[in-house]
Amino acid sequence: MEKFDYIVIGGGSGGIATANRAGMHGAKVLLIEGQHLGGTCVNVGCVPKKVMWNAAQLRENLLLDASSYGIDVSLEKFEFSQLVNNREAYIERLRGLYDSGLASNGVTVVRGYARFTSNDIIEVNNQTFTAEHIVIATGGQSKLPDIPGKELGIDSNGFFDLTELPKRVAVVGAGYIAVELAGVLNGLGSDTHLAYRKAMPLRSFDQTIVEAMVSIYEQEGIKMYPNSTPQAVEKLADGTLKLSFENGQSLEVDQVIWAIGRKPNIEAINLEQTSVKLTDKGYLRVDDYQETDQKGVYAIGDITGKAELTPVAIAAGRRLADRLFNGQTDAKVDYNNIPTVVFTHPPIGTVGLTESAARELHDDTQLTIYTSQFNPMQYALQERKVKATVKLICLGKEERIIGLHGIGIGMDELLQGFAVAIKMGATKHDFDTTIAIHPTAAEEFVTLR
Ligand code: FAD
Ligand code: NDP
Repeated sequence: MEKFDYIVIGGGSGGIATANRAGMHGAKVLLIEGQHLGGTCVNVGCVPKKVMWNAAQLRENLLLDASSYGIDVSLEKFEFSQLVNNREAYIERLRGLYDSGLASNGVTVVRGYARFTSNDIIEVNNQTFTAEHIVIATGGQSKLPDIPGKELGIDSNGFFDLTELPKRVAVVGAGYIAVELAGVLNGLGSDTHLAYRKAMPLRSFDQTIVEAMVSIYEQEGIKMYPNSTPQAVEKLADGTLKLSFENGQSLEVDQVIWAIGRKPNIEAINLEQTSVKLTDKGYLRVDDYQETDQKGVYAIGDITGKAELTPVAIAAGRRLADRLFNGQTDAKVDYNNIPTVVFTHPPIGTVGLTESAARELHDDTQLTIYTSQFNPMQYALQERKVKATVKLICLGKEERIIGLHGIGIGMDELLQGFAVAIKMGATKHDFDTTIAIHPTAAEEFVTLR
């Protein structure tokens, strides 16, 4: 049985990052991947999603905005399949880069599905390997609703398999993926319906921003179905899918996309052979240093169920490798103030506490809330206005900023810098005394009254 210093199970965002970093520190590393290098983010997540988001954004700008600037654009055809082919070719190149990156850091890559046969032995393709340190980075997969006809719908992986744009589509769900895919499909020209089971989607986000998003989606032509829990899907004689809801309503579409959340990939790894324990939500339980209940076995990324974002998985993987193989004994991820963007149209950016979370934690007298809604200059010349909304949540007399939220063009790119300021403890006074950059959307954050 071959012995390594470090075995990494899963070659996605977290796994690749930790394997490379450990390799750079001189560790003998084995990475095991069952499918494609790059995992969810590169193959069926952030990367193809952002390509589709860019495509939708571009089409919207050309179709809806260009003429106001005097630019004549006749969009005679849109080859969805060409977009998909170009996207997949780009992803193929990225996979190649991951391969060569791992090779240059001396990481051994084995293709196949790994499982534990004991706390420190891993089996893959009938071969066994052992290591002093083993990290589980197997990510997650979509959940499907437990209703008749669920197999007639597709999940986000299925969305990326589409080679034709559905004419009519229903997206079911209320989280990041549901609102992002609905925005993309609408922007690309599908007749888009978004159904969610509560009054609002994105319930854990700041409600001012979510209300702004819902009103923009309605304005932009997405049909919104609140309080709509899916009950069944059936295929009609002409191939149309009929999606029924518990409230008695129904919809007829060509494609149903389930986006109701994700679950951890744990079944195949044989955890019964280990002392690793799960949380009450079924994710792998880890301490602040990513170590599971079994010493020497760690978990990073989506499998831990904490802030399921690529940069979080990467950060956890790198810190862990720095700690285990480079003597950085206190290296760990700070899970507070993680900035995140939802790639709606336009995007939502958020860092820190929402207003309702702040009110639960602090006395109302300690909080000052600033909001503003405005028409970004991109819409200066046209009748179509897609409003931007920004919001700051400030704490105490010194007005330390504990939450920053926005929806509008450019929110995705402007958030990172503000996240640094907030992590450093910025106050409203710091924002006020920073000279604005004009004319931008970002300046609204430093001119709020
Ligand atoms: P993954 O990237 O899922 O990698 C896990 C890997 O383990 C996979 O390659 C899998 O094949 C492999 N594996 C599983 N079981 C085994 C086994 N037994 N043996 C060997 N290999 C195994 N995050 C963002 O930050 N920004 C975004 O814009 C964004 N967009 C997203 C869009 C979509 C549609 C989805 C689904 C997710 C998106 N995410 C985004 C989330 C992001 O993709 C994940 O947080 C990230 O990929 C988690 O990384 P990971 O390493 O934990 O797991
Ligand atoms: P989320 O966990 O974000 O949202 C899923 C939502 O679907 C739930 O919150 C719930 O909302 C609703 N839901 C749950 N069960 C059902 C059901 N049976 N029927 C109808 N609705 C249901 O999951 P996603 O799959 O959208 O995304 C998973 C994670 O991936 C995200 O949390 C995020 O961390 C990451 N991601 C990040 C992106 C980014 O960074 N831009 C993009 C995409 C994903 P409710 O209770 O309100 O009904």
